[in-house]
Amino acid sequence: MATALGASARAWTGSAEVAQRGTTGLQRQGRIPAHGSLRTGRCRGVVAMRVAQRTEPELYDGIANFYDESSGVWEEVWGEHMHHGYYDDEVVDDAVAAATNGAPDHRRAQIKMIEKSLAYAGVPDSIDARPKTIVDVGCGIGGSSRYLARKYKAKVNSITLSPVQVKRAVDITYKQGLAELVNFQVANALKQPFQDGSFDLVWSMESGEHMPDKKQFMGELARVAAPGGRIILVTWCHRDLLPGEKSLKPDEQELLNKICDAYYLPAWCSPSDYVTLAKDLGLQDIKNEDWSEYVTPFWPAVMKSALSVQGLMGLAKSGWTTVKGALAMTLMIQGYQRGLIKFAAITARKPE
Ligand code: SAH
Repeated sequence: MATALGASARAWTGSAEVAQRGTTGLQRQGRIPAHGSLRTGRCRGVVAMRVAQRTEPELYDGIANFYDESSGVWEEVWGEHMHHGYYDDEVVDDAVAAATNGAPDHRRAQIKMIEKSLAYAGVPDSIDARPKTIVDVGCGIGGSSRYLARKYKAKVNSITLSPVQVKRAVDITYKQGLAELVNFQVANALKQPFQDGSFDLVWSMESGEHMPDKKQFMGELARVAAPGGRIILVTWCHRDLLPGEKSLKPDEQELLNKICDAYYLPAWCSPSDYVTLAKDLGLQDIKNEDWSEYVTPFWPAVMKSALSVQGLMGLAKSGWTTVKGALAMTLMIQGYQRGLIKFAAITARKPE
């Protein structure tokens, strides 16, 4: 998920290595292609031009810098999970209650999002059937990674583009005594440093929206899944096109373009596009559900925290990129209200 509360001076500055990473660091490590076409799809207008002008390496560096800068203040205000909460009236179940003892509502909603996703995909809890190996694709500072490791006693490999996130994730994980189970590294989701068939559970919580090539992204999720393994993808999409429609309306596209620009996102796709990709890959038990109504309170809550003294101080000390990110929160709210943005849960299984 891309949000910005403000990258304050209190946010981590990262290591010297991070500061010197430069724009070609990931390329040097061979983790991203040196050149690549950014699949901008149906972007139009001035903002679309700017989005389109980002090459794939520029996009990746933009994402890395964005999270390098903003993850610290996000953690201060919101904690270790960098994703939407799932808000409904259901009485909090045992797993959520146990993991969030005394925590504020929003944190409970974020844990609920994880539990709802696992339940939707039918991930088994029993000792013999539960996942033993997990990959967290686009892991942030490892909130889900640690939750899943703890819940299933599983080995978790986690990747992000942000070196600052890796450093912080490693620190927290060590302090929580989970270093034996959870491992973090800077790596590209479109070129994952894992063997085929490695993981019983492939987890991507709000990272898919950053991926410039959804086909390659889905291909990688499927490739690293073990035979019979489950894939869970929770991500921002645009609405499905109506019968006869060839594209979104120009004003809808314009709104998405502004969000792309602020949050380092490439072109969006619809939930149906993901389902088609999953089918083309020969995946089974493919399901998707629109959870937009369950995340409605989230962005207003983030805006409220950005407008708090703590959030405003962060914004005041930060640069234009971060302020732009904060302003784009209203665009996200508009997108949901117009039924343009969909919060999609998509799951599938790799055949045995
Ligand atoms: N899943 C986490 C973080 C979501 S924020 C959570 O729920 O807390 C989005 C994350 O996706 C960031 O960590 C960002 O670095 C990562 N990301 C975006 N594009 C990526 C890519 N191409 N490869 C790996 N990680 C990526």
